[in-house]
Amino acid sequence: MIKPWHILSTRIPYLVNHSRRVLTRTHELLLPELCVTCLGPDTRKGLCEGCRDDLPVNDRCCVRCGLPLPLIRSRQSPTCGQCLKQQPDYCRAFIPWRYEFPVDRMIGRYKYRGQRQYARPLLHEMGAQAAMLLNRDPERRPDLLIAAPMHRKRQRKRGFNQAAEIAAAISRQTGIPWTDRLIQRTRKALPQSGLDRKQRLTNLRGLFEIQGQVPAQVALVDDVVTTGATAGTLATLLRRHGAVRVEIWALARTPAGGGSSDQPFPDIGGDGEAGSQTG
Ligand SMILES: [Zn+2]
Ligand SMILES: [Zn+2]
Repeated sequence: MIKPWHILSTRIPYLVNHSRRVLTRTHELLLPELCVTCLGPDTRKGLCEGCRDDLPVNDRCCVRCGLPLPLIRSRQSPTCGQCLKQQPDYCRAFIPWRYEFPVDRMIGRYKYRGQRQYARPLLHEMGAQAAMLLNRDPERRPDLLIAAPMHRKRQRKRGFNQAAEIAAAISRQTGIPWTDRLIQRTRKALPQSGLDRKQRLTNLRGLFEIQGQVPAQVALVDDVVTTGATAGTLATLLRRHGAVRVEIWALARTPAGGGSSDQPFPDIGGDGEAGSQTG
């Protein structure tokens, strides 16, 4: 015989989870959305007008790799010393922001804590900017957006690949198809942080393989470009497998000497688990 308390005990977890979902949804509907960086009201996609204007725009940068070059005028189309010394296999960069406050914090919250609301304004804005860029310059339109690959184990731990989510967001606003399957990681690399460009290149050797057909014109999509070593390695691989033109598209580019801030950042609570830094 099934006892009533047994039925109740199996229903309790469901009821608790269900009411939590209903409460969260009601909370979202009743309370105004706050700006993720200043907690102010009147936001669009999670960012208020003032904070949107204050984002560190990467408009003075190397045309090829997106490295911020503060000493040039924004109308020039310069190339940085590294790209002049050794031309990488990607030809253009589209990287709207510098990896500085608050963009570094927003990406960090998203990537390491799964708090998607911090990345939402960036993803939306990047998609909109990509659509404008392609309107102005249709020849740059890639046939395919290729998300930078993440090792399966790391992706399982994190629950998502941020590069794939960025590619999907751009795809929604431009209509360009995207994939996270074309490039696979063959093994886990040592963490790239703390390594210089040369060490990173050694660490990346033989790490990736192509599985499928590579179109002629592609854009590699990632969250942050730090030294350009990963992007360079992937671009070389794509060129070897038939790509004629490779661009790198990312949310942010680390300035020379590193731009990450240690400024405090407000906590508006998250929809994901608190996690350790693994990237
Ligand atoms: Zn704000
Ligand atoms: Zn460059």
